[in-house]
This record gives sequence, C-alpha cells and structure tokens, in this order.
Amino acid sequence: MLEGISMFKMLLLSSSHGDNVTVSYDLIVGCDGAHSAVRRQMMKSTLLNYSQEYIPHGYIEMSIPATKDGQFLIEENYLHIWPRNTFMMIGLPNTEDHTFVITLFMPFVKYESIQNEHDLLTFFETEFPTAVPLLGRENLVKTFFSTKPLPVITVKCSPYHIGDAAVIMGDAAHAMVPFYGQGMNCGFEDCLVFESILDQCGDDFAKALPEFTRLRNDDAKAICDLAMYNYIEMRASVNTRLFLVRKKLDNALNWLLPQIWIPLYTTVLLVVVSLTGFATLTLATSTVWLRFHSSEILSGSWMQQLSALFQLKT
Ligand SMILES: Cc1cc2nc3c(=O)[nH]c(=O)nc-3n(C[C@H](O)[C@H](O)[C@H](O)COP(=O)(O)OP(=O)(O)OC[C@H]3O[C@@H](n4cnc5c(N)ncnc54)[C@H](O)[C@@H]3O)c2cc1C
Repeated sequence: MLEGISMFKMLLLSSSHGDNVTVSYDLIVGCDGAHSAVRRQMMKSTLLNYSQEYIPHGYIEMSIPATKDGQFLIEENYLHIWPRNTFMMIGLPNTEDHTFVITLFMPFVKYESIQNEHDLLTFFETEFPTAVPLLGRENLVKTFFSTKPLPVITVKCSPYHIGDAAVIMGDAAHAMVPFYGQGMNCGFEDCLVFESILDQCGDDFAKALPEFTRLRNDDAKAICDLAMYNYIEMRASVNTRLFLVRKKLDNALNWLLPQIWIPLYTTVLLVVVSLTGFATLTLATSTVWLRFHSSEILSGSWMQQLSALFQLKT
C-alpha cells in the first residue's frame, strides 16, 4: 500500500504484514482512477486544491442482445436516449458482437423505490415501454436485481504534479460524469500532451510537470463542467420544443457558416482530435447523432417547457 510520496523522490510502501519499505524513483505517474491513492498522498506534500462532487444519480448497465443472425436489434449508428427529465436511459452499440449496452441513470432514491419484480416491470412498462421487449423481461429482472447502482463523481484538483517527482493523469486528475463520453479520451489526451511536453522540455521533469498542469488544468475543468451540463441536456432539455428549435437553428447555422458556427459537441470532438483545448468552449450550442425514444416529448404547454428549462439551467 502507498503510504507516502515526497518531493525527494522517495516512496513509502507498506506490506500486508505491516513492513515498511522506502523506494527511490525517477517519476511517479499516478493513473489510479477517481479515488487515486497517488493524489491522496500528493495532497499531503503540496498545496493541492481538491474538490469532488457526486451527483444524486447512480447507474446500472444492462444489455440488448443481438438478433439470432447476429445483427443489431436497433439502429447501430446512433446514441439512443430515453430522456425522462429527472432520469434517463441510453444505449450504445458494441460493434464486436452487435449487442447494445443500455445504461440507466436515475436518482438513488428512485432505485430504492423499486423493491421487487412487479415494481420494476411496472416502472419499465410505464417509462420505457419500447425498451422492454428489446431488453427482455427476464433479462431485465435478472440484471437489475443482481447489481447495485454505481455512483458517478466529478473530481477537480490543481496542481496535477509535485515538483519534478509525481504527476497524476486520467480520472485521478479529472474524473467527470460520463455524459460527454470523454473521460477516457481525456486520459489518452493527457498522455499525448505529456509526451509532447516532454519532447519540448528535453525530458526535464522539473520543467515538464508544471507545464503539464498549466496546459491541462483549465481544459480538464471545462470538460468536467460541459459533461455535467450535458446530463441536463440529455435527460431533460431534449424534451422541450425550445431545445429542438435551437438544435435545428444550430444545424442550419452550421450548414450556412461551417467555418464560423460549429456546434458544441462537434467542437468537443474536434478539440479532442486536434488538442487545442476545451477551456475556450462555451455552453452556447451542441449537436450529436441522437435517436430519442420519447414518452412525452412535445407534450405540455410552451409555458411549462420554458419554465422547466429555466429551472434546470439555474
Ligand atoms: C458509466 C460510464 C460510462 C463511460 N463512458 C465513457 C465513454 O463513452 N467514453 C469515454 O471516453 N469515457 C467514458 N467513461 C469514463 C472512463 O471510463 C474513465 O474516464 C476512464 O476509465 C478513466 O481511466 P483511468 O485509467 O484514468 O482510471 P480507471 O479506469 O479508474 O483505472 C484506474 C486503475 O488503477 C487501479 N488502481 C486504483 N487504485 C490503485 C492502487 N492503490 N494501486 C494500484 N492500482 C490501483 C485500478 O484498479 C484501475 O485499474 C465512462 C465512465 C462511466 C462510469
């Protein structure tokens, strides 16, 4: 177990027998996830600001099988969304076996209200009637009750390094809610950016590590915020006429002015590819190939929808 990291490149480890071992090293790169032990130890050695936020929603993963002849049961080139305002279900294709991973994001308190098979099937038949035959009732019941909803967390911290001794990357540095699908991509991007910085600094860790924090911190915080915002958009805003109108306008402006008007989601993907930075993005606009499985889209008055949108955004 990791017991301590120092500026002096000494690592204190303890074994399960209680023995302590001190090890010297050149560089620690902590890629140990949202609950990073490396980050925890770094916090003891430097002025590392840290915040974490759990959303009140947990997730459960289920699966839509392939057809008997191995084809996708629903259109594969889409992110399928069942948006229900305070919760949602999404479906992502597995290109290898043509199944779909279906993820339900829902408040923990709502999970707790589903106690038995009857509660579950009533809930699904009411909220996701189109998904029930795809998931299969038996499969749905079995999967739902054999697992527990897992939490999702946002982690922001700064700096990402101590001296020339240690640096954190990936979720250890910037765990984010999964609603932009960019958490892992950002981890890979960290590696590319760090490699490029090392090249520029001639592998001098004393220069490279602060530069990594300087270049990555604002971008990582920005994508954490964008991901959080996208949850509201995916589960609720898409249920409003205003959103659909805005989306059409967004696409029309992009078609008319492709160099000037780039929808937010496209920009995020381009940024990941081109490594120019998330921090300059705004929350003005977004687009992605989506297939909505609605129960109530476009029901309710304009006034209700506007007020719902206003409440969600404040
Ligand atoms: C529901 C969901 C959907 C997602 N969808 C997407 C997506 O579509 N696209 C995307 O880009 N990202 C997505 N993500 C985010 C993505 O999964 C994470 O950002 C990514 O896995 C982070 O990688 P990591 O290596 O930094 O951390 P992790 O994947 O958490 O890996 C950390 C590793 O460190 C190990 N470890 C931890 N502590 C120690 C220790 N003390 N000693 C030794 N080893 C240790 C762990 O066992 C683990 O193997 C999603 C996340 C969730 C929850």
